[in-house]
Amino acid sequence: MKTKMCYNITICIISYKSGGKYLRLSKLFQEKECVFSIEVFPPKKNGATPEQLYPVLKELAKLSPDYISVTYGAGGGAAGMSTVQIASHLKHELGIEPLAHLTCVNSTHQQVEFMAQQLKENNIENLLALRGDICPDLPRQTDFTHASDLAKQLKSIHEFYLAGACYPEGHVECDTLRQDVENLKYKLQAGVEHLVTQLFFDNACYYRFMNRARKSGIDVPIQAGVMPIVSARQVQRTVALSSASLPPRFTKMLSRYDHDEKALFDAGIEYAIEQLRDLIESGADGVHLYAMNNPEVARRVYEGIYDLLPERKQA
Ligand code: FAD
Repeated sequence: MKTKMCYNITICIISYKSGGKYLRLSKLFQEKECVFSIEVFPPKKNGATPEQLYPVLKELAKLSPDYISVTYGAGGGAAGMSTVQIASHLKHELGIEPLAHLTCVNSTHQQVEFMAQQLKENNIENLLALRGDICPDLPRQTDFTHASDLAKQLKSIHEFYLAGACYPEGHVECDTLRQDVENLKYKLQAGVEHLVTQLFFDNACYYRFMNRARKSGIDVPIQAGVMPIVSARQVQRTVALSSASLPPRFTKMLSRYDHDEKALFDAGIEYAIEQLRDLIESGADGVHLYAMNNPEVARRVYEGIYDLLPERKQA
C-alpha cells in the first residue's frame, strides 16, 4: 500500500515538453570512432529532489556528450523514479540521449515491469541492465539472480536497447577473470549490445581484459570507464572501497598531494586525462566519464581530450 502511494505521487512529477526521437545507442558505435559519455547520479541527501541536479545537467550538456547515463539507487521498487525523472529531463529538456541504469537484485518481476513501463512512457529506451550490489540492509528479492535475467525480462516487455556492466579486473564475486569474462556472454545472449567498464586506474588492466574478451569471442563495443580522483574525501570513499588496483604513479600522486586540496584536484584531473588520451589513442570503442556530478571536473577533463575525439569542439 505504502509503495503504491509512492508510485502514484512520483508518476505525477514526471512530465515533459515534447516527445524526443529515440536514438538507439548502437548507432553511435557504428558512426563514431570513439563514443564519449558521462555518468550522473540522482542527489543522495535526505530530502534531495531530482531537480537539484538540473543545473549540473545543463553544464554537462554544454560538452555535448554522446549520451549521459543516470544511475539507479539501491532499493528497487519506486527507488528508481528519480532516475526516470532525470533521464526524462535530459532527453526532453536538454536534448541529450540518456542511458537509464536499472538494477534488479531488490526488485520483483512486477516492480521491474512497473519501472520499464515508466521508462517507456517517457521515451527512455536505452537502458543499462544491472544486477546491483547485494546490500545486507536491503531485503533481497528472489525473482532475479543475475543481470542477464533482468535483460531477458526487459526484452520481453519492449525492444529496449540494452547495455551491461563489465569488470576489467574481474567482478569481486567471481574467482577468476577468465570465468567473469565467460559469464558476460549470458548478458550478451539476453540482448545486451554494449558494455561499460567499472572504473580502473591502470590502463594495463583494461588492455588485458579487452584481449581476453576479444579472444573469447565477445565482439560488442566496450566503453572504458574512468573516474578522476580529485579530493581526499573521494580517496577515502571511492579508492579505499574500490577493488581497482592502484599503480605506483597513482599512489604516489595521492600521498604527494594528500594535504593540498588544490594540487590534488589538478593532479587528479591530469591523471584522468592521461589515462583517457592513452585509451582513445589505443582505439577504445568509447570512454565513459564518472564525473561525480561535478561539471568543473567534466569540463576540465573534456578540454584535455576533445582534440582526440573527431568533430568535437572546445567547451
Ligand atoms: P551480473 O552480471 O549479474 O554479475 C554478478 C556476478 O555474477 C559476477 O561475478 C558474474 O561473473 C556472475 N554471473 C553473471 N551472470 C552469471 C550467470 N548467468 N551464471 C553464473 N554467474 C554469473 N549498481 C547500482 O546499484 N546502481 C547503478 O546504477 C550501478 N551502475 C553501474 C554501472 C557500471 C558501468 C558498473 C560497472 C557497475 C554499476 N553498478 C551499479 C554496480 C553493479 O550493480 C555491481 O557491480 C553488481 O555487483 C554486479 O552487477 P552486474 O550487472 O555486473 O551483475
